[in-house]
Amino acid sequence: MKKFDYYQPETLRDAFALMEKFNGRARYVAGGTDLIVRIKKKDVQPDALISLRNIEELKGIRHTRGGVSLGSMTRIRDMERDTTIARDYPALKQAAAVLANPQIRNVATVGGNFCNAAPCADCAPPLLIMETTLALEGPGGKRDIPAEEFFKGPGETCLQPFEILKAINVPNPKSKTPNPKSITMTFLKTGRVAQDLAIASAAALVVTEGKICRKCRLAAGSVAPVPMRLKRAEKLVEGQEITPELLEHVAKAVEDEISPITDIRSTEAYRRIVTGVMIRRAIEA
Ligand SMILES: Cc1cc2nc3c(=O)[nH]c(=O)nc-3n(C[C@H](O)[C@H](O)[C@H](O)COP(=O)(O)OP(=O)(O)OC[C@H]3O[C@@H](n4cnc5c(N)ncnc54)[C@H](O)[C@@H]3O)c2cc1C
Repeated sequence: MKKFDYYQPETLRDAFALMEKFNGRARYVAGGTDLIVRIKKKDVQPDALISLRNIEELKGIRHTRGGVSLGSMTRIRDMERDTTIARDYPALKQAAAVLANPQIRNVATVGGNFCNAAPCADCAPPLLIMETTLALEGPGGKRDIPAEEFFKGPGETCLQPFEILKAINVPNPKSKTPNPKSITMTFLKTGRVAQDLAIASAAALVVTEGKICRKCRLAAGSVAPVPMRLKRAEKLVEGQEITPELLEHVAKAVEDEISPITDIRSTEAYRRIVTGVMIRRAIEA
C-alpha cells in the first residue's frame, strides 16, 4: 500500500485548503470502510487522506417538526438506534439495521454511503422515497440538490472537485398529512447471506385514503448503475385501490423499468424477479 499523509482539520475551510494544497491528489475520508478497502486494493492511491471526523458541523442528528437533518458524519449505528428515526422514518432505520454488521455500522457514515455512490448503497432507496435534499459545500460556496440528482454512475456523483456533503435533509412525511396513520414506508433487502451487500433492495412509501393510494414513492438498489426511483411503477399505483391484481401488474412493470447486471452476487434475471417481488411486498407492508 502506498504511503499517504493524514490530516484531521477541524473546519470545512481548513479541509478545502488542504484539498487545494494537494491539488486533488488527496481524498476525504469519513469512516474509511469503503475508501481504505479501495486503497488496499490499489484502486485509488491518494497522496493524502483528509479526515472529516473532527469537523463538528458535519456531526449529529437534528430533529425538527418539519424533518430531520443528518450530518454527513452520522454513523449508521446512530441512525439505527435513534428512536425518532425508528418512529417517523422506519424505512431508514430498517436499512441502517441491515447494513453490513455492527462493527462496520459503528464507523461507517451515512455521508460515506452516499458519496461512495455504489448502486447497492443501503441508505439510498429509503432516502430517495422521502424527497430528501443534500446540502453540499465547496470552496466556491454552498448549494442544495435533490438526492435523486446526486448519483451519476457507479462511484460517480455530482460533487464538484473539493466539495463536501455536509448534511442529508429529510422532510418528515407525517408532517404533511392530517392523518399520519395513512403513511407507511418499508425497506427490504435480499443478499446471499446476512451482512452482505444487496443482491437487490427496495423501498416504498405509500399514503392511503380509505382504500385508495394517494401517493406512492418507490426506489430500488443494485438494479441499475445508480440507486433509482421507480417512477413508472409509482404512476401505476397512485390513484388506485391496492389489490393483489394491481400489485402483480406493478411487479411486472418494475422488472421492465430496472436494468440490472449479472455479477458475482447474482444474475440479471434473478435481480429483475426479486426486485418486482420486493416492491410488491413493500407496498403490501
Ligand atoms: C465488510 C463490509 C461490508 C459492507 N456492507 C455494506 C452493506 O451491506 N451495505 C452498504 O450499503 N454498504 C456496505 N459496505 C460499504 C460501506 O461500509 C458503506 O458504504 C459506508 O456507509 C461507507 O461510509 P464510510 O464513512 O466508511 O465512507 P468512506 O470509506 O470514508 O468514504 C467513501 C467515499 O466517500 C467519500 N466521502 C465520504 N464522506 C464524504 C463527505 N461528507 N463529502 C464528500 N465525500 C465524502 C470518500 O472520499 C470516499 O470516496 C460494506 C463495507 C465493508 C468493508
